[in-house]
Amino acid sequence: MSFKAIGLNDELLQAVSNQGYTTPTPVQKQAIPHILAGKDVLAGAQTGTGKTAGFTLPMLQRLMENHDPHQKPRRVRALVLVPTRELAAQVLESVQTYGKHLPLTAEMIVGGASINNQIRALRHGCDIVVATTGRLCDHMNERHINLSNVEMLILDEADRMLDMGFLPDIRRITGNLPKQRQNLMFSATYSAPIKELASKILQNPIAVEVAKPNITSENVSELVYPIQKENKRALLSYLIGSNNWQQVLVFVRTKHGADRLEKQLITDGIRSAALHGDKSQGARTKALDFFKNGKVSVLVATDIAARGLDIDTLPHVVNYDLPQVPEDYIHRIGRTGRAGAKGHAISLVSEEEAHLLGDIEKLLKRHLPQVEDTGYPAVSLNTMAAAPKKKPVQKEAVKRDFRHSKPAEKKGYVTRDKAPASRSKPQGSRGGRSR
Ligand code: AMP
Repeated sequence: MSFKAIGLNDELLQAVSNQGYTTPTPVQKQAIPHILAGKDVLAGAQTGTGKTAGFTLPMLQRLMENHDPHQKPRRVRALVLVPTRELAAQVLESVQTYGKHLPLTAEMIVGGASINNQIRALRHGCDIVVATTGRLCDHMNERHINLSNVEMLILDEADRMLDMGFLPDIRRITGNLPKQRQNLMFSATYSAPIKELASKILQNPIAVEVAKPNITSENVSELVYPIQKENKRALLSYLIGSNNWQQVLVFVRTKHGADRLEKQLITDGIRSAALHGDKSQGARTKALDFFKNGKVSVLVATDIAARGLDIDTLPHVVNYDLPQVPEDYIHRIGRTGRAGAKGHAISLVSEEEAHLLGDIEKLLKRHLPQVEDTGYPAVSLNTMAAAPKKKPVQKEAVKRDFRHSKPAEKKGYVTRDKAPASRSKPQGSRGGRSR
């Protein structure tokens, strides 16, 4: 099925073709015709499935149907709510890219950016607002924004908005919208609170399900390194340096941890930047730009900051700390292996985190393969998870021995899926990488 066959107009077909897209992705195929027909849609789709175009393209087309070029100032007719500033920037970029040949205007309303510029932009008027909920509520409190003309509401990554505690904001915002409107909701997972939110916001929604929730991408190879906490940094530096990884997204649990690891990696000679919620919007944008254009090879990020990042062909994701919520593992490793490309997800897991690994394996309903000999003191991870099926050895990831650059197998550097081999002698904790 082509983009033409799903009913997009010529301007949008042109924009899609400029992007080099030839066929709609599954979520686009399933959702776009219903959205164009004016139906409410509940879509189960993760980042990386093409969901942004899946709602942006039909939203633009719907807005063009009743577009009044003489309306001044422009009225907000579509509202897209997203959990993070980065995702807002990406959605706005999509709106501008796909709407390039259309006379519609869009503004981004997010925290961490100048409120005065936003007030000016809102006064000037626009057709589409892409917003994070907190800043939008601030503008509502001060009556800077009029939402009484909103015809379409889109909740993107609704599950994450709930995880981040934005439900009260969402309730407030939806309470200020006209009752008669079209609603679209995108969520990677279907928890009970998501179902409840959907039942309150959506009217007779069409359910669209593209990637089964809680399943990680087929294109991502996963590997666990059992390692003592104090050796994680040396192992990470070594893996990056010895494999010459050029673009690595590293997840840590805390903002402080992100700053600390960024500094340590820089000390180890690795170009790194940190991305977390305590950084100014300018610093966040800069860190992301540096990472995207290759000025830094490592981006150390917290879950919230990294949510929704769309970086083409991101090859490596590292869980430096395991996430507290097992679903976040899926979101994290979904940053790699996109659009058919191969990705590698590596988790450095200490003994204290074994229970978190167990939770993840329970959710995935499979064991993650473990590196038997990391070259550091042995750590036993008894996850106690049900293990229906083992994964095959990830050959690329175990190719080389850390310290002596010998073929891995010669030194017994194998994963649990192979026969046990004699363990190499533990070595010093900080000597992971020679420079
Ligand atoms: P998203 O899931 O919206 O984050 O999109 C993931 C990536 O897929 C983005 O880089 C899009 O530019 C890209 N994309 C979206 N739709 C298509 C398509 N039909 N064909 C190829 N790539 C696409």
